[in-house]
Amino acid sequence: MDAKATSVPATGARCAQHPETPASGLCDRCGAFVCFECELPWENRSYCPPCSHRVKGLFGGSWFSIFAAIAAFLSLGCGALGLVAIVLAAVDLARIAAGHGQRGGLKLDLIAIGLGVIGLAIGAAIVLRLASGEAPSFDP
Ligand SMILES: [Zn+2]
Ligand SMILES: [Zn+2]
Repeated sequence: MDAKATSVPATGARCAQHPETPASGLCDRCGAFVCFECELPWENRSYCPPCSHRVKGLFGGSWFSIFAAIAAFLSLGCGALGLVAIVLAAVDLARIAAGHGQRGGLKLDLIAIGLGVIGLAIGAAIVLRLASGEAPSFDP
């Protein structure tokens, strides 16, 4: 009857996070029992919530927050990227607020927005200097 037999034997194993819910599988990292609700697939493997936060990379943040931070750092040299960083960080913050994002990315998002604003300010200053006819040099 059960065509989709899992690796978990029907021994009444329960989810590590939800003691009342029968386990549907095992975490590929720590081997903890997970239920359908907790099982988090990532790159052809499934993880429990704590492990998924670890394997999903840097600081537990989502790719949005990581790219936002990278764009923010680059924006210090190219102001236009500051806008990209702010947009990416804002999207990630919205996702976190909606409960879909990785809360670990929160700090990264805020850093990205801060650096993005600085990058945009530097970029604007350079554009203003160009517009005022001065050579785009950084002489103090
Ligand atoms: Zn795990
Ligand atoms: Zn669960």
